[in-house]
Amino acid sequence: MIVKQKKMDKRINYKLNLDTIFASASSMGLSAIKTVRISGNEAKKIFKILTKKKLSKARYSNLINLYDIKNSSLIDKAIVVWFPSPKTYTGEDMLEINIHGGSSVLEHLIENLLLIKNVREANPGEFTKRAFRNNKIDFLEAEGIMDLINAETKYQKSLAMHQVSGELSTIFKKWNKKLLKLLAHFEGQIDFPEDEVPKNTHEKVISQVSDLIKEIEFFLSENKRGDVIRHGIEIAIIGKPNVGKSSLINQIAKKDISIVSKTSGTTRDIIETKINLSNIPIIISDTAGLKKRPKNNVEKEGVVRSKRKIKNCNLKLLVMDGTKNFEKDILKLVCNKTIIVLNKKDLLSDKNIVNKIKYLNENNLNQISVISAKNGSGINTLLNEIEKYIKYKYKNVFFGEPSLTRTRHRAYLRKCFINLKKINNNKNPELNAEDLRLSLNALGNVTGEYEVEKMLDIVFKDFCIGK
Ligand code: GDP
Repeated sequence: MIVKQKKMDKRINYKLNLDTIFASASSMGLSAIKTVRISGNEAKKIFKILTKKKLSKARYSNLINLYDIKNSSLIDKAIVVWFPSPKTYTGEDMLEINIHGGSSVLEHLIENLLLIKNVREANPGEFTKRAFRNNKIDFLEAEGIMDLINAETKYQKSLAMHQVSGELSTIFKKWNKKLLKLLAHFEGQIDFPEDEVPKNTHEKVISQVSDLIKEIEFFLSENKRGDVIRHGIEIAIIGKPNVGKSSLINQIAKKDISIVSKTSGTTRDIIETKINLSNIPIIISDTAGLKKRPKNNVEKEGVVRSKRKIKNCNLKLLVMDGTKNFEKDILKLVCNKTIIVLNKKDLLSDKNIVNKIKYLNENNLNQISVISAKNGSGINTLLNEIEKYIKYKYKNVFFGEPSLTRTRHRAYLRKCFINLKKINNNKNPELNAEDLRLSLNALGNVTGEYEVEKMLDIVFKDFCIGK
């Protein structure tokens, strides 16, 4: 069976004669130690020139003097580790130089590195790009590394680890392998006369395609959980003007991020802040009050943005002033992703509160939290309610299994899925094989097997320098 597999098996092999690159892998500012990473053909030479010594044993830490190339003065007493290719992060020869953390020591070292021919500072993400080019990692793993660097909560870290350790890649590779096998069957039907192909082959292949469709469909349908963890759960605080929205966001964020004022219409744009709620990354936003008749274009735009936020958020906190009567048009905003926040508890009697809750319950509105955004009472209970809601609604988010983490993954996987769905019993094998090929191509775009150059810039554009 002839499957045009060559292109599919291997990523294009880049053994280019690249510059040797270096970067400080530590953050800027004062620190006890800074690590400078070097990758490329000149790494060996750099070791010898700067230390005036023979190359040391691979992967051993050496406390060693580094000397200025021009005048032999001491740059620093450093710990230097030599990593020969190919067993390195980038797949190239690498050096790690750990120097004292002062910025002048780093500058002195950089000045010297730049004196060496074919050596230059690395661009953002260039180390990881080289790791990709040398087949050390695929796109999914590369993106996982970036997410790991940016992870702020336990869940974000765990999700990124799945990608870094290749678990998500393994799933894609498994699908890739299955598709190749199926393609081989279709090609077989094209290349061999009907009587030489075992009976029921066609039916078996179609049934395997349909199993794969189900598997991919499940992956696509899981509530965007990877995106949710990576990006954070979006909570919008909404309601009429002056009900206490800004006071509430300030209470939750524990700082004054939004202006609290008796003057209505003070918040005209969306004000966002990030919080970590029991390790759940949350982006909470204060929105402009929903006025029936905005006074001017700025207020009008504020209301438009609020409405957009209401539509796209994961959870709405609908704040209502407990001292006022409920308005029907506001209650209409309640849906299954709403918690009603009855505010200004400090101005209400217990009887008042009971009556208000009774009224809401009678109208089938049951997710209610009573708070005072002024003195903070009820805020902790509200946060517990929010946590409970998120953990219930996104329960599979917290199982810690690999998941798609980007729109890019979802878009290509969907393309793969759509092409697979076109395959059926009644079509001739050539057309089915073509649909399979298109599915394979789409999968390859997620891991980086195809259209590599086009995808490289997209994947690596958000990386930091030194990685
Ligand atoms: P927003 O327009 O919905 O953002 O409302 P603000 O947070 O700016 O509050 C409007 C007014 O209500 C301000 O004078 C706040 O001090 C007051 N306020 C907000 N929450 C409470 C509360 O729980 N109790 C009382 N007594 N006043 C509140």
